[in-house]
Amino acid sequence: MLGQMMTSALTISSLVDHAARYHAGTEVYSVNTGGGIETTTWGQVGANAHKLGDALSKLGLDPQARCATIAWNNRRHLEIYFGVSGAGFVCHTINPRLFPEQLVYIINHAEDKVLFIDATFVPLVAAIRDKCPKLEHVVLMDARDDAAAAQIEGLTFYDELIADADAGFEWPDFDENTASSLCYTSGTTGNPKGVLYSHRSTVLHAFASNLKDCIGNSAMDVVLPVVPMFHVNAWGTPYACAMVGARMVMPGPGLDGASLVNLIDTYKVTTALGVPTIWLGLLGEAEKAGSTLQSLTRTVVGGSACPPSMITAFREKYNVETIHAWGMTEMSPLGTANQPLAKHGELPVDEQHKLRENQGRPVWGVEMKIVDEDGKLLPNDGSAQGDLMVRGHWILDAYFQKTTDETLTDGWFDTGDVATIDGDGYLSIKDRSKDIIKSGGEWISSVDLENIAIAHPKLADAAVIGARHEKWDERPILVAVAAAGESPSEAEILEIFADKIAKWQVPDCVVFTDALPRNATGKVLKRNLRDEFGDVLMS
Ligand code: AMP
Repeated sequence: MLGQMMTSALTISSLVDHAARYHAGTEVYSVNTGGGIETTTWGQVGANAHKLGDALSKLGLDPQARCATIAWNNRRHLEIYFGVSGAGFVCHTINPRLFPEQLVYIINHAEDKVLFIDATFVPLVAAIRDKCPKLEHVVLMDARDDAAAAQIEGLTFYDELIADADAGFEWPDFDENTASSLCYTSGTTGNPKGVLYSHRSTVLHAFASNLKDCIGNSAMDVVLPVVPMFHVNAWGTPYACAMVGARMVMPGPGLDGASLVNLIDTYKVTTALGVPTIWLGLLGEAEKAGSTLQSLTRTVVGGSACPPSMITAFREKYNVETIHAWGMTEMSPLGTANQPLAKHGELPVDEQHKLRENQGRPVWGVEMKIVDEDGKLLPNDGSAQGDLMVRGHWILDAYFQKTTDETLTDGWFDTGDVATIDGDGYLSIKDRSKDIIKSGGEWISSVDLENIAIAHPKLADAAVIGARHEKWDERPILVAVAAAGESPSEAEILEIFADKIAKWQVPDCVVFTDALPRNATGKVLKRNLRDEFGDVLMS
């Protein structure tokens, strides 16, 4: 017997329609690519999304045609998210920080038909346009601009495209499992791989992210997604905010600390989301500017391990709670978020703080397990380390144009991370499996060592890699970037590890460098560091 309840497809268009209907006057602030800030509303974003859906449908594209973006976090990008998916096309966000050859590969692999670009990226796209033969329309996300038009043949303009389109355009009906959006993984080796999200997975992910035990946005919030819309859909923030009608602040191209402090203070941001390196800049700038970040109540930090010293700084200097979250492109991205349990309230305050440092526990909808190298299940005891496997409603079943068999192992996705899980399900990421340091048969977590090193006041940045060693196979070494105006000695730096970890885990040496190499999403390229410094212990 089936239940007798109404069913309708879980679609992305329903999110923006809800926001436009019940939060029509709620503001969306957006930093323009060319400078200045505009104020719009969910009502206007919804109307423009319908207009865009109408305009795209009139271009005669096939259903699920890929419409790509190379753009900052701004109002038009938000409209594209909803207009493209709502009209049954696939919104393919592209990371502009990729090498041009990778951009070409991705555009051709996805068979993008339309490409929306911000003015910043006109030269970039002009240089690769000829190498993307399937691309039919390049649309500048702005009003008419003759200088840009001179650079890209056939360039059209977003504002003109939607000017006469119909705000009453009706979204087409389709199955909720229809593809809605596409993101390629940043991968440090090989060609990027596509992850094709569905309407259903996106809506369920938004639901879960709005739970109080996860990110917990509400109509009372002013949300600043610093995480780019080309990085796993800004962690799903546009969908989650539309679902609850939160105010949004779209930061545009300026992601430096000073610009962010200004946006937070001007628009009374309550929740900001981004990777740890962004917050390093922000904390430094807030201190310089004398801002107390008065309105900010929480930061959501993920993408790389959030150093405990950052969580402490946010809490003690600014009274801001940090939600440390973990996820991946393949997981839409949310897997875990660090929120406390009722029983933690009975613990001494120091212990409560300590428990907030790891990557947190699974959000409803995500299951996790750790296994050894033979695939045998390991206990959730907080100390056994193994390969982290996941499955759930918003986790990929197969990479774009690949099969499930090529992607999953017995229905589970291998994250490539090495982790421990404790009895309450709290996850602690130790490393990417290829980065963990294997010293004489023992494993050393580079993340644990980095978390300690980064708190050193004389360091601006730090990474730990395994360097080849004659006796132990590998030993940890610290690659360090000195803070401005500092030139610390090796001994001074290594002192910070005393009493914090076992002696045999302390890095064998410190090598100083000017800056750490990072990939397009801000992750340290450890492979490059191993190429450069991997033999320093061999002489
Ligand atoms: P991406 O698909 O580019 O978002 O990268 C996903 C990978 O980033 C994960 O598999 C982890 O290795 C890493 N990652 C994401 N969040 C965290 C976190 N909070 N702590 C440690 N590593 C993280």
